[in-house]
Amino acid sequence: MLFRSALSALKRLLFPAICPVCGKSLIEAESFLCIECTISAPFTNMWRQRDNALEQRFWGQISIERAAAFMWFIDGSQWRELIHSFKYHDHWYYAENIGYWLATEFSRSDFFEGIELIIPVPLHWRRKLSRGYNQTEHIAAGISRHTSIPYSFSTVKRRVNNPPQVHTSYVNRWGNSSDIFEVIKPKELRGRHILLVDDVCTTGSTLISLAKTITKACDGDVKISVATVAASRHIAKI
Ligand SMILES: [Zn+2]
Repeated sequence: MLFRSALSALKRLLFPAICPVCGKSLIEAESFLCIECTISAPFTNMWRQRDNALEQRFWGQISIERAAAFMWFIDGSQWRELIHSFKYHDHWYYAENIGYWLATEFSRSDFFEGIELIIPVPLHWRRKLSRGYNQTEHIAAGISRHTSIPYSFSTVKRRVNNPPQVHTSYVNRWGNSSDIFEVIKPKELRGRHILLVDDVCTTGSTLISLAKTITKACDGDVKISVATVAASRHIAKI
């Protein structure tokens, strides 16, 4: 035991772990982020607020139970860089850590009550192949690890390979026809309360489209909640 902790201390000395937000070396008690960043993150606190800005985004579009983003997505912020690093630069393990952290905080409220299955927003197979992973699956896995709610990566697929920066009018065009996504196994969703998971919500159009597709495939016999790592501050003004 003593040998193992000495080895761990030596490893930290030779290869210091770095906080991906501020770049500071982590101490032994810090496993992913430094304590200062953990405390000062731009939390939305939406998981404690009914009728929050993200839930309002769905009003008049599709019926949902709860919706919450963990943080605000702020241009120029180091948190934005962290999200980009797990989204585009192979740091998928940050996505799982953030998912676990999100679940830890959301669990301090009643947000997860009644949720039976987690479904990450799917990537088109071509994009997943070129990126090597789907970051939302890792966020979902992190949430599942904390909550013990199971996840499914194979119930829904993306039929349309959207451009990375999705233009609202483009999504609306597809979203209105609910053709971006396809439910492969509707029986697995019918009668259940599902949590849709995404990384960043900028306009909400992708999540609305996915929620519409699932609701239609289940003939309305489904409950849907939404959790995202971040949301644009503009979401309240759309
Ligand atoms: Zn830090």
